[in-house]
Amino acid sequence: MRVGVTLSCTDCKNRNYRTQKSKNNNPERLELKKYCPVCKKQTVHRETK
Ligand SMILES: [Zn+2]
Repeated sequence: MRVGVTLSCTDCKNRNYRTQKSKNNNPERLELKKYCPVCKKQTVHRETK
């Protein structure tokens, strides 16, 4: 079962990415290192509602 999630930068709180995850594989909050255009560097992006 896959659900859509929004990833937001933990530095500036900007919501930069939309993605999908499996609830079975990742029941917890998803964290990914991605490039943030606001911070202009790679930051940790965390799943938000
Ligand atoms: Zn940022």
